[in-house]
Amino acid sequence: MIPIKTGARQAPRWQQELARAIVDPAVLLRELDLDPGLLPAARAAAARFPLRVPRGFVARMRKGDPNDPLLRQVLPLAAELEPAPGFVADPVGDHAAQVAPGVLHKYHGRALLIATGACAVHCRYCFRREFPYAESRAGADEWRPALAYLAGDASIREVILSGGDPLSLSDRRLGALLAELDRIPHLERLRIHSRQPIALPERVDDGLLALLAKTRLRPVFVVHANHPREIDEPVRTALERLARAGVTLLNQSVLLRGVNDDAATLAELSESLFAARVLPYYLHLLDRVRGTPHYEVKETEASAIMEVLRRQLPGYLVPWLVREQPGQPAKMPLL
Ligand SMILES: *Cc1c(COP(=O)(O)O)cnc(C)c1O
Ligand code: SF4
Repeated sequence: MIPIKTGARQAPRWQQELARAIVDPAVLLRELDLDPGLLPAARAAAARFPLRVPRGFVARMRKGDPNDPLLRQVLPLAAELEPAPGFVADPVGDHAAQVAPGVLHKYHGRALLIATGACAVHCRYCFRREFPYAESRAGADEWRPALAYLAGDASIREVILSGGDPLSLSDRRLGALLAELDRIPHLERLRIHSRQPIALPERVDDGLLALLAKTRLRPVFVVHANHPREIDEPVRTALERLARAGVTLLNQSVLLRGVNDDAATLAELSESLFAARVLPYYLHLLDRVRGTPHYEVKETEASAIMEVLRRQLPGYLVPWLVREQPGQPAKMPLL
């Protein structure tokens, strides 16, 4: 198809896909031939944390299966509205760890910048679903104090762009941020924590690769896939392009009841990731955020799963099972 020239520059394809993402539970249920009886609960839960899922991600789900492991990550459920003791708004103490607007500095040598609160997909189990982004986000011209903090601490060798999803930023804004980071002499590594190569692989386009080619910082991407079926052909292509651009690719998952809480699924996930040039990094135990108890896998069960996994895979394909605890000097592996 020949694009019609209109004078106004067309939005990149990833932004068009983002604009087409499904945000209405009724549309999601219809697309997947699911029981409309699920709608009232979905609407009620979505009022607290809205539904959002790109159509390309929905295309990887099985029609007619309310327990599909990809659907289960994004469909709002009544269970989210039930109060549960121990499940709170900020389980990992992020609010207290802010050292400048939008900067979390908990661990030695690396600091995390909340580049935006926006995500392409809303994961129901997200530990930041209750996070007050509006107060904490380092917005367009509000990066000054954050950059000043990073520049002022020479022990920081790695900046981690997180969010939300930092790749929600336009190339223009991301480019401006990377140019500023480039100028901080003690920074060596640029880490990007993003689910977009998985949820919206269109994001890995020429514009993004051009930005990565320009920075002097060593790029590391930590992507986020929980189930092997998330990795389809467009995702493999996106990851391959990043790998060829010299990006070190790692994956983090969350151990989720009804999604990936068995060794066979996790083994297949590691195999699929490796085939797409990605090494498994962390497998997080669920952060106990409000609205998520139905996803929890208990620690003893998680350890048993890991034991099976270790007998099935080479060591480098076994992720570290971790739980984040406020006040700890690192994410602590559970052995
Ligand atoms: C998870 C996290 C990091 C990264 O930890 P690594 O062990 O380096 O992956 C850094 N800063 C904050 C605030 C984090 O939550
Ligand atoms: S993409 Fe990441 S930050 Fe965004 S909702 Fe999902 S888990 Fe949370």
